[in-house]
Amino acid sequence: MCGIVGYIGDQAAVNILIKGLQRLEYRGYDSAGIAVMENEKLAVFKKEGKVANLASQLNGNHLDATIGIGHTRWATHGAPSDKNAHPHISEDGKIALIHNGIIENYLTLKSELTAKGYHFRSETDTEVLVQFIADVHKNSSTSFAKSVQLALQRVVGAYGLVILNVDEPDQLIAVRKGSPLVIGRGSSANYIGSDASPFLEYTNEVTYLNDDEIAVVKRDTITLTNGKRGTLTPYFEHLDLELDAIEKGAFDHFMLKEIFEQPDRLLDCMRGRILAQSGNIKLGGISAYADKVYNAKRLIITACGTSYYAGLTAEYLFEDLCRIPVEVEYASEFRYRNPVLYPDDVLLAISQSGETADTLVAVDQAKASGSTVIGICNVVGSSIARATHEGIYTHAGPEIGVASTKAFTAQLIVLSMLAIKMASERHTIQESFRHQLILELQRVPALVEEVLAHADHIRSIAQKYWLASNFLYLGRGFQYPIAMEGALKLKEISYIHAEGYPAAEMKHGPIALIDAEMPIVVLALKDKAYDKVISNIEEIKSRHGKVIAIISEGDDAMKRQVDDYIEIPAVMEYFAPLVSVVPLQLLAYYIGVIKGCNVDQPRNLAKSVTVE
Ligand code: GLU
Repeated sequence: MCGIVGYIGDQAAVNILIKGLQRLEYRGYDSAGIAVMENEKLAVFKKEGKVANLASQLNGNHLDATIGIGHTRWATHGAPSDKNAHPHISEDGKIALIHNGIIENYLTLKSELTAKGYHFRSETDTEVLVQFIADVHKNSSTSFAKSVQLALQRVVGAYGLVILNVDEPDQLIAVRKGSPLVIGRGSSANYIGSDASPFLEYTNEVTYLNDDEIAVVKRDTITLTNGKRGTLTPYFEHLDLELDAIEKGAFDHFMLKEIFEQPDRLLDCMRGRILAQSGNIKLGGISAYADKVYNAKRLIITACGTSYYAGLTAEYLFEDLCRIPVEVEYASEFRYRNPVLYPDDVLLAISQSGETADTLVAVDQAKASGSTVIGICNVVGSSIARATHEGIYTHAGPEIGVASTKAFTAQLIVLSMLAIKMASERHTIQESFRHQLILELQRVPALVEEVLAHADHIRSIAQKYWLASNFLYLGRGFQYPIAMEGALKLKEISYIHAEGYPAAEMKHGPIALIDAEMPIVVLALKDKAYDKVISNIEEIKSRHGKVIAIISEGDDAMKRQVDDYIEIPAVMEYFAPLVSVVPLQLLAYYIGVIKGCNVDQPRNLAKSVTVE
């Protein structure tokens, strides 16, 4: 979950590392540190809190070093503090290491090292790893890279590592298992990152490291080896990513920028896939497995967090349009449940980052059972994108705000296109209806734009309710997963307790919570569930609850029944989630901002959950 950056070249490493860490801060932000090599010694700086704290500690000094590593941490072992921050250094002061992930057998290794007389300054699993590598190296007569490989044979867990050793001062070692690492090739300089954002302004020639590969990165060369397969030729690709995609521009926060970007990103996601003339859909990313996908006996959708809610929404779509059984599973539960999988099952793995650890394991399991596995990821070249048989990218552009917004709606677009295409291939819908669906889907970006125009009104509602300590979100049918997603957004961004519930279930429990202090966000659109939802609103009002309703434009009767309302334009029920989630994103955003929360970097969270 952390951010990793490494640099070797002829420029001041400190500047490149600090700037890189600032770009990576969305991945983890409880502490940060760098190590550079200066006068054949390591100079190490670590600071709890934001990268800005570290930058002020450095105060523009140490500019002679041209090789170094940097890390923003998301603590797993040991509280966020200066001493637990990375890089961690071997006892002899020669080796510096940064780590993304968890070393599961660190206690065993630690007691072995303690028995040998090693001492530890931090509570982290990472420090154990650096001491262990140093010990293996001390007792072997091979190159440092070989010692690292040797040491890692005993290590259980997930890691992306970058290591600097003063005895081999012209190189960085990068190695991974389960956590992402990417190498950027520059001119007279090379870069390493947990993603490409820290070095995007210098190069977009990148190669992704695979599990168990080790790279020796020098100023002018990159040597890649895999223990079993020997030396490999790195495959470099050109990353199509502009710098402004990872900058805030005129917006106060990345989250707001990303909410407002949605109309454009949804268009990007459909571009080239919806063929207006033939009224058809082309999903090139799954062409080789098309038969398997469209003739599947069952769909299993697996994901975590917001992506899981995209999966839940898709369940309604696929069942209705394609008449196929669908199961939606939290990846963390699915993988440990000994699931029953068949070769004619298709597993859809949804992950914004494409690095979500539990989803990645679920992918491997399904593949091992012979099922077809399709990835729906945002980050191009990510682990899940590469581990699946084929996939469909969401093309939402980099999502920096920790709370997912545009990636969610882009996932819904991908799932909608896939459902329409599958329905058409399975002949479960008429051709004329397919045309109608496609035309409606193409209207969605403009409808989202209309909702965004209500931002000021939504802010005024946030102003009215931001002091509440509990919220309930209710929806039925297609709007039930959106109620869950709305509640999740509010929790993440404002730390207000919120629960999403199927509206009809309210009377089986949550109704006990309702009093005059309790705002209840009700998705009350003019769809199949409309009349039932009106009854639910009556039940809330009888108990003096405050109703904030998301309603269909022009629904005057509903306006009179509720305390506050946000109108959204009429849209087919299948695609209404794409539109109705937008006011909920904005509501959470404005409540977070009014409360003074750091909405882009909410406490305890991090983007890209690479630990189980
Ligand atoms: N497990 C390590 C720690 O707690 C690494 C955490 C991270 O990925 O940031 O320091």
